[in-house]
Amino acid sequence: MKGVNPWDGQGTGKPTSSTKNLPWPGQQVWRRPASRLTTMEQSHQVVVIGGGPGGSTTATMLARRGVDVLLLEREHFPREHVGESLLPASIPVLEELGVLPAVEQAGFLRKWGATMVWGRDSTPWSWYFKETNQRYPHSYQVWRPQFDQLLLENSRSNGVDVREGHRVVEVLFDGAKATGVRYGSGNGALSTVHAEMVVDASGQGGLLARELDLRRWDPFFQNLAVYGYFTGAQRLPAPDEGNIFIEAAGHGWLWNIPLHTGWASIGAVVDSPRGQEGIKKAGAERFLKAQIAQAPHTAGMLRDAEMVSGPHVVKDWSYVCDQLVGDGYVLVGDAACFVDPLFSSGVHLALMSGVLAAAYVTTALKDAELGAAAAVAYQELYFKEYSHFREMARLFYSSNLAAESYFWEARRLLDGAGNFSPRHAFIQAVAGQPPQGYERAVLDQGRAPEDFLASVKEVESFRAGRRARVEAARTAPGTAASPLIHSVPRLAEGVRLERKAVVGAGEFLWGYVLTTVSQPDGTPCSNLVARLISTIDGRTPVSQILARMADTGGSGQEAQIRQSVLTALEILYVDGTVEELQGL
Ligand SMILES: Cc1cc2nc3c(=O)[nH]c(=O)nc-3n(C[C@H](O)[C@H](O)[C@H](O)COP(=O)(O)OP(=O)(O)OC[C@H]3O[C@@H](n4cnc5c(N)ncnc54)[C@H](O)[C@@H]3O)c2cc1C
Repeated sequence: MKGVNPWDGQGTGKPTSSTKNLPWPGQQVWRRPASRLTTMEQSHQVVVIGGGPGGSTTATMLARRGVDVLLLEREHFPREHVGESLLPASIPVLEELGVLPAVEQAGFLRKWGATMVWGRDSTPWSWYFKETNQRYPHSYQVWRPQFDQLLLENSRSNGVDVREGHRVVEVLFDGAKATGVRYGSGNGALSTVHAEMVVDASGQGGLLARELDLRRWDPFFQNLAVYGYFTGAQRLPAPDEGNIFIEAAGHGWLWNIPLHTGWASIGAVVDSPRGQEGIKKAGAERFLKAQIAQAPHTAGMLRDAEMVSGPHVVKDWSYVCDQLVGDGYVLVGDAACFVDPLFSSGVHLALMSGVLAAAYVTTALKDAELGAAAAVAYQELYFKEYSHFREMARLFYSSNLAAESYFWEARRLLDGAGNFSPRHAFIQAVAGQPPQGYERAVLDQGRAPEDFLASVKEVESFRAGRRARVEAARTAPGTAASPLIHSVPRLAEGVRLERKAVVGAGEFLWGYVLTTVSQPDGTPCSNLVARLISTIDGRTPVSQILARMADTGGSGQEAQIRQSVLTALEILYVDGTVEELQGL
């Protein structure tokens, strides 16, 4: 089932995901004829291609579960890499990997949020992680050669066989099943390693995606970046001195990321064909300077700065693969998909997918049936997170009405031409939750499309009205029990409960996934919520549902179960999963 255009699916700007896209045994996949120059053959349970954040995370998590892992990295670390600005969502993963103390000791700058010139006016505005994430209110601006090396060393100390300077040249197949890789280590000879599972974490190079023709380019983000490292760049005034600074300019936007080394990473993102033309004419350095000159705040911060490394040019980075898992292989991090640098989401997606891929591989090595369900779940979870960032970035690009140029016009027109409904865009962009953080900022500072804004308002006032109703019922004076008890709940159209693989501690387990209007991609739910959903039939009052559910708990747990069920019911009602509480 290759050749599926992931944007064709529902016209929603999200990739399709289903078991039919996964090549299981028997399905033919094109494979490269094996090369003959092999000197040595070995075998490991798992071989990981690439030692960036995606590869090292997968390898560490697998080694922690007792899996025998070989990681092959073509470079010798520390090696250069763009992508310094992290998200707080990565901090718990670094904690889980056991590498957070080392990251803290490295002295990387703390990043508390973002400062932007984007949207209605040209005054910079800031947004802080603490507004939405009290537990992890900061992340880091990391020097990638050092950060990636810390993660790779951590893999080594967790028992991964890490070999640097080893380039994988091909993935080997037996029919449709990946069986290992062939690699070279500098002396011209090739070696073969057999493995039960191949993890492709080769980044933008996308070894397997190219071998199997899995990659689809994104029609929306056809951008190019030219960037370099500067000394002497001014930082933002306190308390924003660690923030990433993003400035929309006439022909695109610029980033300015302060680093603990005293350098700053400065880059310009422009339209790809026009950028290539401009660089061909002027050269990369003059082209970068011309972009900086168009961004007055960035130009001011770089008044006394000097470029000490670069310029580098990158393009063709926005793509997604038709399938992320196949027989004997899984794609992780950039090897699977990449959106755009706008939200600094790349390292987060690499770390997150590394953790999930390790859980998938651990499961698949133990239990083929659950492994097949986990493959589908891995792909769905990764696509869901990818789609969230993609829709948010689309919204951001199309909401910058302040600038008039080909870059912004094209991105607005393309956005308008997209055949996704505003309601679906809202759900994708804010993951079914009321907008907060970045999303809230774009709504306040930018000019989001009118119908999008209307959808947001509609959902917010729907939820606020329902919340007020249940709160009033809960605190109704003179009632021994909440009137909720006597109401009869009815589920909304399209609510679905499925038994699926869900992520547990380090591996996938059988569990329940609930699909609702606000969570069309499904969300795992507890056994209690699953039981509650399957008990709601539109006729049984809450009192009877409570009695039935409390019966199934052990003695002494009745009161606790009743309370949990009532809380769950309130949440499901506010969210719209429970369409009606008749009699409330
Ligand atoms: C312009 C730009 C700016 C960005 N800015 C940010 C940012 O601010 N914040 C952020 O979070 N992300 C950013 N990103 C994205 C981020 O850099 C990546 O998403 C992230 O590095 C992905 O990690 P990975 O492990 O999947 O791939 P990589 O980090 O690329 O690692 C892949 C590794 O595989 C190795 N490899 C490749 N081929 C082979 C082979 N055949 N054999 C053996 N080894 C191989 C490579 O040497 C490399 O070490 C940016 C991206 C771009 C293009």
